[in-house]
Amino acid sequence: AAPITVEHVGKVYPDGTVAVGDLSLEVRAGELAVLIGPSGCGKSTVLRMLNRLVEPSKGRILLDGQDIAERDPVELRRRIGYVIQDVGLFPHQTIRTNVGTVPRLRGADRKQIRARADELLEMVGLDPARHGDRYPHELSGGQRQRVGVARALAADPVVLLMDEPFSAVDPIVRGRLQEEFLRLQAAVRKTIVLVTHDIDEAVRLGDRIAVLAEGGRLLQYAPPAEVLSAP
Ligand code: ADP
Ligand code: ADP
Repeated sequence: AAPITVEHVGKVYPDGTVAVGDLSLEVRAGELAVLIGPSGCGKSTVLRMLNRLVEPSKGRILLDGQDIAERDPVELRRRIGYVIQDVGLFPHQTIRTNVGTVPRLRGADRKQIRARADELLEMVGLDPARHGDRYPHELSGGQRQRVGVARALAADPVVLLMDEPFSAVDPIVRGRLQEEFLRLQAAVRKTIVLVTHDIDEAVRLGDRIAVLAEGGRLLQYAPPAEVLSAP
């Protein structure tokens, strides 16, 4: 089974807003799928349905062939990495402690957590000796974003969900983060769903791009070259 299967999923919020009408798509193993579309077209809603932060009003979502509605949401979220725009690091915890959050919840021992955190910090291009004991406000925006990626990977996720992960930093830093992220992805090959409204980012990072319109209507779902050559 594909790691992610979305079958005729819709979401109507309690106030009657139809955020997503009827969406179906699959994400293959190791694929980076980008959701792109104008503001308000339902991208974040789709992403949040994938980790049960939002419950679909209809349809179903399968993770590794299993309906996520049948899984415990807390356990599910520990299996799914989630990276958001301003990262949401715990401000009163060091970088190393932030990265170790999920392993700690799983009861790993301190030495293991530290070793794993340091390994991940290196993977995202941070120096554990220099940055590990700092607090989030002592890092730049781009560095915090890297910590967010490291923390998501620390959960050893089956799937990584990323909502505008690089948009809070300036364009030069963004370009560098994207390059680094591509190298990291080539090494770890996670199944990723990434939301953006930036077509350059979509083309640069995506294996396939899902172009959405109002109400989560899927206009196209294809590799970047095909999306660019569409009339
Ligand atoms: P995008 O991520 O593409 O900007 P969203 O998924 O955030 O789109 O929103 C899709 C639509 O659903 C928008 O019209 C938005 O205003 C609406 N929406 C999002 N969250 C809620 C909510 N909690 N309650 C009501 N409407 C919402
Ligand atoms: P722990 O890994 O500490 O046992 P979890 O609740 O995360 O705690 O994992 C429960 C089981 O699922 C373990 O056998 C673990 O190895 C396995 N597991 C955890 N994450 C993944 C993953 N991303 N892919 C496959 N199996 C996983």
